[in-house]
Amino acid sequence: MPLSTPFRIIICGGGIAGLAAAIALRAPGREITILEQSRLASEIGATISLQPNASAILQREWGVDSVKEARGMIDHGFRIFNVEGKLVNTVPLVSKTEYGGDRVMYHRQDLHACLLRAATSKNRAGQPAVIRTSSKVVDCDPLEGTVSLESGDQLVADLIVAADGIHSSIRSSVIGCEVKAIPTGFSAYRMVIPTDVLAKEAPEFTALLQPAKPFTTMMLAHSCRLIMGPAREGSSYSIVGLVPDGKLQEDADSKQSWVSRGDLGQMLETYKEFPEWMKAVFAQAKDLGLWQLRDIDPLKTWTKGRVILIGDAAHAMLPTQGQGASQAFEDAEALGAYFEDVHGIPNREDVEEILSKVFQCRYERASLIQEYSRDSTKPATAKGSSEVTLRPDEFMDYNCGYKGAKEWQSRSVAAAALE
Ligand SMILES: Cc1cc2nc3c(=O)[nH]c(=O)nc-3n(C[C@H](O)[C@H](O)[C@H](O)COP(=O)(O)OP(=O)(O)OC[C@H]3O[C@@H](n4cnc5c(N)ncnc54)[C@H](O)[C@@H]3O)c2cc1C
Repeated sequence: MPLSTPFRIIICGGGIAGLAAAIALRAPGREITILEQSRLASEIGATISLQPNASAILQREWGVDSVKEARGMIDHGFRIFNVEGKLVNTVPLVSKTEYGGDRVMYHRQDLHACLLRAATSKNRAGQPAVIRTSSKVVDCDPLEGTVSLESGDQLVADLIVAADGIHSSIRSSVIGCEVKAIPTGFSAYRMVIPTDVLAKEAPEFTALLQPAKPFTTMMLAHSCRLIMGPAREGSSYSIVGLVPDGKLQEDADSKQSWVSRGDLGQMLETYKEFPEWMKAVFAQAKDLGLWQLRDIDPLKTWTKGRVILIGDAAHAMLPTQGQGASQAFEDAEALGAYFEDVHGIPNREDVEEILSKVFQCRYERASLIQEYSRDSTKPATAKGSSEVTLRPDEFMDYNCGYKGAKEWQSRSVAAAALE
């Protein structure tokens, strides 16, 4: 029997957003191809936390047991230390059942591998997504529904999902001009250290912070801060040091990739006011990274013709709310929800109409969270004081109280009717 023509979906980028979109869009009669420029081993050694709004989608909506499969650690809460190393605030998280999911900490490679398995598994609805690695997209025609690869190949699709990250090459064909990621004025040191090394080499730190326990710990000075947490069942500990570029002793502009290296001596100078037992940990990092943080302003649109931008390509944001990847999950869930009732092959007008609904539903929320993420870089204390005024849960109810795109849309419609 001849096979009927499938609904062809191309996803550009096999990062967190692209894989999440593949999971959400899988359904009978659809053919999903993910085009990834790398050989797909590019996720770096660092942790990532998914917020309750994303955990609810991944675990409940899509049935991916990521805590087990990706060795996630359910976060029990925030512990806030001042720059003198004194615990000044705690924010418990486990009792927050109203969010419908947990805040979960993963090693990025584990989360990526878990999403890849779900996108390509034979045991889920529809055909497994096919991944084409070493396939760099260099051009896209949103109206024709074509993408061109560096190899010279051209592919055609009914729907194109551009999940090609903060430096998206497809963005300009959607927006009509180039939108470059802009420096936010902040950079991030990053390091991951095995907790058994910490126990041996940094015993005071280990006794005070118990790094294998499932907590997010922050140590906050006026403008520099540390955000720390475990992954891999408590066997590794991640530290991110957020520093204003002006305080950095190194050239921020030259630190443009996840793999750019930081200098231990310079970092110690920048963090000189932090407790000795904290700084003793930095020397244990085998790999000290430094990364200038960039984001983008809200775009005027995310869609054109058969194409939609999602994830960092659409709304790259600072990591201060831990919402970058979580917003990509929301984008993916929205695509799944709005294409749910499409059973045949949609024509261009159908695709345009559905993508416009996804954009209408997602834009205001994602843009606001971009703004909150910038807002959270404000100084954590008054100048010259060690009293911490920054609240890590300030935007949490808005960020995490999300129950899927269609529910969000009906809430927005109801709110508008009341105005
Ligand atoms: C220091 C730091 C800490 C963070 N911590 C968190 C956190 O705790 N929680 C959280 O939710 N978020 C966090 N984020 C943000 C999060 O990492 C991003 O929002 C998320 O990874 C975005 O996923 P993405 O798939 O959109 O983009 P990416 O992860 O950048 O993936 C894009 C993919 O597209 C591929 N690609 C790019 N161009 C092309 C092309 N032309 N052709 C084919 N393929 C292409 C790339 O190789 C890559 O695989 C953090 C970010 C930083 C910088």
